[in-house]
Amino acid sequence: MRIVSGMRPTGRLHLGHYVGVLKNWVELQKNNECYFFVADWHALSTSYEDKLNLKRLSRELVKDWLSAGVEANSNVIFIQSHIKEHSELYLLLNMITPLGWLERNPTYKDQLEQIKNKDIHTAGFLTYPVLQTADIILYDAEAVPIGEDQKPHLEIAREIVRRFHHLYDKKEEPIFKEPKEILSPTPRLLGLDGKKMSKSYNNAIYLSDTKDEVWQKLRGAVTDPQRVKKTDPGNPEVCLIYDYHKAFSPDEVVKKVEEGCRTAGIGCVECKKWCAASIEEVLEPMRQRRASLDDEMVEDIIQKGEKRAKEEAAKKMEAVNRAIFEVEG
Ligand code: SF4
Repeated sequence: MRIVSGMRPTGRLHLGHYVGVLKNWVELQKNNECYFFVADWHALSTSYEDKLNLKRLSRELVKDWLSAGVEANSNVIFIQSHIKEHSELYLLLNMITPLGWLERNPTYKDQLEQIKNKDIHTAGFLTYPVLQTADIILYDAEAVPIGEDQKPHLEIAREIVRRFHHLYDKKEEPIFKEPKEILSPTPRLLGLDGKKMSKSYNNAIYLSDTKDEVWQKLRGAVTDPQRVKKTDPGNPEVCLIYDYHKAFSPDEVVKKVEEGCRTAGIGCVECKKWCAASIEEVLEPMRQRRASLDDEMVEDIIQKGEKRAKEEAAKKMEAVNRAIFEVEG
């Protein structure tokens, strides 16, 4: 299948991004044709005031992907704002998208409620599902990996495709594909203080952290608050280190942690050391891959991806513009 997926360039990637998105991408690339793009225009929909250096952040993001095992040769990797067809299609789709679809979107309403530190009452934020639609259908994506919260957006994308075909495309071979969803298992990995993992809370383990940085962070992480002494039995279900084990450790270690914690057979420091070792199994190969990459190589990969993306996008926009502007009345 052809798969399209993007990520916003808002800073260094952490373990939460790896578990929630990148691990899945690395799996998907094995059997699919994948288009992975840096969603720099999307970053502006919420961070337009943050003065982010999106050019630098975009390159770093791609470096993080490659370090995590995203393949440079078999996938199409590009930066959204470099392919102007995304904005052209976004504009045209905005002309036909009823406002009600966007205003009723539950994710939009939730985010207006939750994000209080920024003014996101903008046209860009309201219409970002339209931009997402353009990103996906421009490349004939057959499927899009999404989390549960993105389901309404994909539904809007399918509605927009149907509306476009109803209005303009009367031929047997439709211009766009209706994208299916691949509901990704998105285990939420909490930060080291038990809050959402985020750079603004300074509670994240980054993919680029050194072995020592990882250990120092894990050492200070909160555990079961009821387990004061090593002789107190603990409850792994309330401990975020146990969640990390479930995300990174082999089953036998997870079992050992569960038993050892409940029976006070292990101490938290020992448990954290096992956890650090499991995380190292993932991060060390990433460090090695990162060390083999330089800026020129990353730039080269982006340019190659952009060439392929541009060809596809330009072809699609020719068909779209023909359908809209050369319509027989
Ligand atoms: S033994 Fe492990 S799982 Fe149990 S409370 Fe300590 S760190 Fe958490």
